[in-house]
Amino acid sequence: MVPVIVWPLAGPSDINHLLPRTRIICTKGPGADIWIFTPDMSSLSELLRKYNQPAPRYTSYPPVPDWETATFTDGVWKNALVQFRNSEEGNAPAQVYIHLPYCESLCTFCACNKRITKNHELEDPYITAVLKEWDMYSNLYGGPIPISEIHLGGGTPTFFSEESLSRLINGILAHAVKTPDFEMGIEVHPGTTTIQMVRHLHTLGFSRISMGIQDFSPFILEKINRTQSFKQTLELVNEARKCGYHSINFDLVYGLPFQKISHIEYTVSKVIQLNPDRIAFYGYAHVPWKSKGQRHFTEADLPEPVARWALFEKGKEMLAMAGYLSIGMDHFAKPGDALSDAFQDGTLHRNFMGYTEQNARLLIGLGASAIGETPDAYAQNEPVIEDYLARIEAGEFPIFKGHLLSETDKIWKQHIMELMCHQKTDMDLNDPNWLTALKRVAEMRDEGLISLKNMTLHITYLGLPFMRTICYMLDYRHWESSPETSAFSAAV
Ligand code: SF4
Repeated sequence: MVPVIVWPLAGPSDINHLLPRTRIICTKGPGADIWIFTPDMSSLSELLRKYNQPAPRYTSYPPVPDWETATFTDGVWKNALVQFRNSEEGNAPAQVYIHLPYCESLCTFCACNKRITKNHELEDPYITAVLKEWDMYSNLYGGPIPISEIHLGGGTPTFFSEESLSRLINGILAHAVKTPDFEMGIEVHPGTTTIQMVRHLHTLGFSRISMGIQDFSPFILEKINRTQSFKQTLELVNEARKCGYHSINFDLVYGLPFQKISHIEYTVSKVIQLNPDRIAFYGYAHVPWKSKGQRHFTEADLPEPVARWALFEKGKEMLAMAGYLSIGMDHFAKPGDALSDAFQDGTLHRNFMGYTEQNARLLIGLGASAIGETPDAYAQNEPVIEDYLARIEAGEFPIFKGHLLSETDKIWKQHIMELMCHQKTDMDLNDPNWLTALKRVAEMRDEGLISLKNMTLHITYLGLPFMRTICYMLDYRHWESSPETSAFSAAV
């Protein structure tokens, strides 16, 4: 079994409670702050079989499938925005996420909200709708909105031409006030993004670029119908560095159909060669009932849970050896990167874009399926592009579903986010929900996946693979109402 390598915040003498009994062996790693933990694989296999059940990714709490469609109208969202605007935090800057849903070809593993097309005449009406939606927000605000970040995701944002992206960004900024630390990021497909586009985006003000790598192995790329080469990625990375982008992120995926340790070794060795600042290393989410492209694969094509976890451990080991710090559940960053600093300072946050160092109190989502968030509410736009365009045309906020957080939701949102970001949370034994939650996790405690120390629940190193499942066991809403679990992918 490959070792688990982590970078603890303290040395082993302070972390004994995180190393359950004899199931993990700790030895000194290759760097000053690196420790190597080797789990007893037979225990881990047994636990993986037991706990690899469907569970949310907890990029929100409650998770999106638990939100309401019938009762959460555009009027409810507008009220939540007005309430935020009138609150003490009302001048806090917003993060803006813009969903650009088109792609030219289908990657069969993909579970994103996207539309496959080669028709670029769709660009103009879509950008017009997004700008109209932004106008609706600035009208509600009564003027330009303070913003700290714009992030373009998709789909493939670079499906859109340089002119379309310029129109979009200039249109947004015309009704915004940028904070001094304002920055813009974009997700790109290295197989279809040109050098010229990288330059253009930098001229527009983008300083963060996130490249969808998934896997560099030609065999896996062919299996998931994705065309891109190492050479193309190398050229884009070199150009991004030359232009002055200050953050380069790679998205990788483990657990893909047919993926083996050799593919991970090949991919991660190439990644290390390119030296990105951050890496998101996601587990493949097999949800064929939602993503038709995944019906190309059967369960038999997927690595079974123990082999799947070994893929992640191999990648994690290689990244740690190369000097990357493991952050939260599935992110890695170089020491000195803002995400590493936030993890080490205990100020890391999590939202729909994954782990982030920014704690924006307001997230505005623009475009089909985009999600917005205030401290009191979540809202998601219409996911079907035609429905989104029609609602905008009618002058309505195109809200499809959402949720108003109760006071109890807010408390448990905080606990779940603490666990996802910092792997610990303070318990309140006067809260009856804690008493019932502790009964549910008693077995996990006996198995060494969590430890309870000084009124704090910690996830141990053995428990790290089960972070989503542990949060699920604490999710009071789930255990009160038993919502449908099949909406989620396997937790590990
Ligand atoms: S992985 Fe990216 S490019 Fe491929 S279909 Fe999904 S959104 Fe489009």
